[in-house]
Amino acid sequence: MKFYIETYGCQMNERDSEEISSILRMEGLFEVDSPKNADIVFVNTCSVREKPSQKALSAAGRYIKSKNHRKRIVALCGCFAKQEGEKLRERFPDIDLVFGPQQIKDLPVLLGRVLAGKVSVVDVSDSGYVSEENFSEDFKGVTAFVNITKGCNNFCSFCIVPYLRGREFSRESRIILDEVKKRVGCGVKEVTLLGQNVNSYLDEKNNVDFVGLLEMVHEIDGLMRIRFTTSHPKDVSDRLIGAFGYLPKLCNHIHLPVQSGSDRILDLMNRKYDRKHYLSIIEKLRKVREDIAITTDIIVGFPTETDEDFGYTMSLLDEIKFDTAFSFKYSPRPLTRAYRELEDDVPENIKEERLGILQERIESIAQEKNRNLKGKCLEVLVEKKSEKFPGQYISRSSCNRVVNLISDCDLTGRIVKVRITEALKHSLRGELMKGEIYEKGRCGRNTA
Ligand code: SF4
Repeated sequence: MKFYIETYGCQMNERDSEEISSILRMEGLFEVDSPKNADIVFVNTCSVREKPSQKALSAAGRYIKSKNHRKRIVALCGCFAKQEGEKLRERFPDIDLVFGPQQIKDLPVLLGRVLAGKVSVVDVSDSGYVSEENFSEDFKGVTAFVNITKGCNNFCSFCIVPYLRGREFSRESRIILDEVKKRVGCGVKEVTLLGQNVNSYLDEKNNVDFVGLLEMVHEIDGLMRIRFTTSHPKDVSDRLIGAFGYLPKLCNHIHLPVQSGSDRILDLMNRKYDRKHYLSIIEKLRKVREDIAITTDIIVGFPTETDEDFGYTMSLLDEIKFDTAFSFKYSPRPLTRAYRELEDDVPENIKEERLGILQERIESIAQEKNRNLKGKCLEVLVEKKSEKFPGQYISRSSCNRVVNLISDCDLTGRIVKVRITEALKHSLRGELMKGEIYEKGRCGRNTA
């Protein structure tokens, strides 16, 4: 049987899709990269924002309609599936399977029930997490996501995650290290340690905190780079900031969602830090690594947000000069405190206007930073060949910038030095530096 997975939303969902894929491949099913020939189609949904959820629902609707022409199983999974549960069966009477993030490990059993009974199955219960994760050893990439925590205890007032993914749970450090080692054995060069709030990681049994875990992962031979996401500003410790000074494999980048520049709005969001604290973290980070890339998430139009509050967010952009930022209009998410207690009172046209102003400024700062890199030398990890442009490779700098480069031999999985030749809107172009031996069929670094 062939299966296809369509993923909407965040990196957690991407990792969940990878896990679904691994489990099914271990069961002898084949993954295909187009829904056309698939016997089973999974739509993995995210519930954090309204837009991806809506897109996923339309996709699911299309696949269910296509069952008229082609017999296939259609499954909806992820946070949104967990949130809606039985309601999805009412909306899509022909759906075959609905399951939440906690049921992924039970997928073969759930699919077996669908295949045996040919009836639809909905399972979105809270079954508790297990420490084991599945990944297939034929995984081909040079970068991989590794979950270290799941769930969240923070209850930011706009966020549905704690209600859908449950309370925070840290995997045991021994198991994480084992997984990273196995992945490195399969050719992975860079891991991203993943969690809703990685800074609060704690392996209580072995008394290992997040910095302790980073130090242990850093020791793994063959692993070249470490990233982590997401960090909560209230839990960024001086120890973590210090780790950027003595762990060279730690990439020169931190994603630190600020959400707003206004203390009043931060308080309503239940973020538990203020602007001053956020700025102090950035200052300390830049003392340890002057050129560290800082990226963030920002919400505009949160209930009661005034022009003045928005002005504080804009001034924060100019003060910090983020390398880039993901920005969103506030949309009330069911179950959350903001949904229950605050009126969504910022008119849609004001939200639109603020988002436009914000995004324009984010782009102009990002482009200025990209332009400043022209002529500079960067070390990049070559991730893969471009599917669109033969001879072109896609690589990533330590600061998380995409750099496209041309090569007539396979550089995949190598760290090479490139000179930046062009700054494009969302990426850079570079050429291999002299001293990188560059012969057809043989590439390597000239260390002479
Ligand atoms: S830290 Fe806040 S925004 Fe992030 S997942 Fe937890 S509740 Fe949501």
